[in-house]
Amino acid sequence: MSSTDPHPVTGQAFASPVPPGTGWPDDPAAPGTPVARTPAQVRRLARAADGIPELQACISVCRACPRLVAWRESVAREGRRASFAHEPYWGRPGPSFGDPDAPILIVGLAPAANGTNRTGRMFTGDSSGDFLYAALHRTGFANQPSSIGAGDGLALTGLRIVATVRCAPPANAPTAEEKANCLPWLRRDLELSPQVHTIMTLGGIGWDGVLAAARAMDWVVPQPKPKFAHGAEVLLVRPDRVEVRLVGCYHVSPHNTFTKRLTPDMLDAVLRSLHPAAKVSPSTDRPATDQGG
Ligand code: SF4
Repeated sequence: MSSTDPHPVTGQAFASPVPPGTGWPDDPAAPGTPVARTPAQVRRLARAADGIPELQACISVCRACPRLVAWRESVAREGRRASFAHEPYWGRPGPSFGDPDAPILIVGLAPAANGTNRTGRMFTGDSSGDFLYAALHRTGFANQPSSIGAGDGLALTGLRIVATVRCAPPANAPTAEEKANCLPWLRRDLELSPQVHTIMTLGGIGWDGVLAAARAMDWVVPQPKPKFAHGAEVLLVRPDRVEVRLVGCYHVSPHNTFTKRLTPDMLDAVLRSLHPAAKVSPSTDRPATDQGG
């Protein structure tokens, strides 16, 4: 394994993890982007960000969770999957991907070690992303059905994808402390996105993360706490009285898709319901079925 490897789309050589501002496609950061090294610094930098590009730049260089920083960088250096051993690994937190002015937000769980942590783009380069982007293309949100790597021409319309936790966690399981550390980034993302009227979460952790961010912003959240279920839908109300739909969908993890707990038709139906023209009656009292990955 050399100290640099060629990017699979552009061919440019990169070290792993990728230093900020060195030419990786869609890298939001520059060499001088401020780095959060503690949870307090996450909160301060998130509050100070005055736009989505600045926020994503700060997120993409964050080092506030020692366990996750060590994990994401060790995978990038020594733990690469054999089939990607000669590719550079992003090895940094995953910035959001999609239309910055979109009215719809998808909130996932966290980057996968050999997916976003390798490619630097949400749900890109693994089977979860294959399943999700094919559905986004079928339902009119993506211009192509596949997402191979940053720089491959994929673009989203009317929709942006973020994650509750921005670094790849061991065993896909962030701790409660790590989820809390990362929450200010999601909260600020929502504050800087007043045009968002619909949020779809992939799995129960994203659902809980959005509810926590909403409460931190003094949004009205139904009581008792709405439970995640596939197809569950509730209305959250911002202090300016604007209503935001929160929609649940099973996660696109291999565990769910290989077992057909989540099928392409099921995902397409939820995605189609997100279009502004779709009319769905929100309900807070549908039964929870499980946490969905
Ligand atoms: S999980 Fe979030 S808060 Fe923790 S290091 Fe990654 S980006 Fe920073």
